[in-house]
Amino acid sequence: MALIVHKYGGTSMGSTERIRNVARRVAKWARAGHQMVVVPSAMSGETNRLLALAKELAPQKPGAAYHRELDMLASTGEQVLVGLLAIALQSEGMDSVSYAGWQVPIKTNSAYTKARIESIDDRRIRADLAEGKVVIVTGFQGVDEDDNITTLGRGGSDTSAVAVAAALKAQECLIYTDVDGVYTTDPRIVPEARRLETVSFEEMLEMASLGSKVLQIRSVEFAGKYKVPLRVLSSFTPWDIDLAEEARSGTLITFEEDEQMEQAIVSGIAFNRDEAKISILGVPDKPGIAYQILGAVADANIEVDVIIQNVSKDGKTDFSFTVHRNEYAKTMDLLKEKVLPALGAQEVVGDAKICKVSIVGIGMRSHVGVASKMFRCLSEEGINIQMISTSEIKTLVVLDEKYMELAVRALHRAFDLDQPAAA
Ligand code: ADP
Ligand code: ASP
Ligand code: MG
Repeated sequence: MALIVHKYGGTSMGSTERIRNVARRVAKWARAGHQMVVVPSAMSGETNRLLALAKELAPQKPGAAYHRELDMLASTGEQVLVGLLAIALQSEGMDSVSYAGWQVPIKTNSAYTKARIESIDDRRIRADLAEGKVVIVTGFQGVDEDDNITTLGRGGSDTSAVAVAAALKAQECLIYTDVDGVYTTDPRIVPEARRLETVSFEEMLEMASLGSKVLQIRSVEFAGKYKVPLRVLSSFTPWDIDLAEEARSGTLITFEEDEQMEQAIVSGIAFNRDEAKISILGVPDKPGIAYQILGAVADANIEVDVIIQNVSKDGKTDFSFTVHRNEYAKTMDLLKEKVLPALGAQEVVGDAKICKVSIVGIGMRSHVGVASKMFRCLSEEGINIQMISTSEIKTLVVLDEKYMELAVRALHRAFDLDQPAAA
């Protein structure tokens, strides 16, 4: 008997029929003798629908008060599903009880819309499990120290599930979703993408941070920090398939590099078009400039991603970086109003129509020429690279967003990711 956490995404619970299917699957695991905690997210499309309603009514200059209410609103999607799933389990003859984040409680900081989990009290859940109940906990939401409801950022139910698994020292956290595992790249963009049997924790961390939305980055961080065994698998298999077969399916996130993984030079390709590029031209090239620019951006709580500074010419240089597209207008205003006048730079220009495409693989550590193969592939497709950033296990390029799909497909082919990995 083990303590297991299941997480179900929005599409997996998109109708009462699918909720019933989830209830039957969970009941199967419970009847096999496992203690079960289930973390559902909202029905697919629901969080978007709620946030769109808020946007229609939003004040001109939204501040913290508005963001508090966004969380109050967006967290309701998850609350609907925990209630429905508990009811569906009861109708399957299982004792079950549902909790909102504040009832557990799942304590977070007060960063509305992107709160971080600080602690989880496991006592209530453990008491219910001891009584033989299936416990259902809302994904995505928590509560801050002043009892305000918070949410964990888009895709945050993954993080709730892994954090609950860590708090309960669960044997495994299973993330059920609408694909049957982690693929070499998003199978919706590249139909030839292959499912990975295993992916190393470090690679998953890079892929998630570079845009593979199959797992929220913070869920991977949590899994790494607390060594939570984590698996991504399909919720669309028949609920009554053999449990042992189901437990082996999908993709396991591993903490040890096995031999096979060392052979894969590039394991996956990640991409996103969530960012915008900003360049400050004609910056005087002297000490403290990067701090003057990026310090002001950081003070405004804006996260910066890729950063590039050119060599200087005649004592002047150009400085570019990317921010999330949602923060683009705010960053441009900040730079124009506060930073540029103090800096003596000539101009700030921006481009919101960019994308990031990255190749990821721990095998890159021990192989040279991987990045140049990437650049050759892109040049053969006639795609101009705007920015480059590398680390030990990834090479990232910033491109015009119109080339995103072309680049991902071409790179997937160039690195033979559609071929089964060499044994
Ligand atoms: P859920 O609602 O279950 O949380 P998400 O939509 O958040 O589901 O995540 C699953 C989706 O992630 C898939 O449908 C797929 O399109 C996308 N995805 C992106 N990159 C990958 C990848 N490398 N492997 C698998 N799926 C990926
Ligand atoms: N419902 C939330 C969202 O759509 C959380 C999640 O799905 O994980 O972002
Ligand atoms: Mg998700």
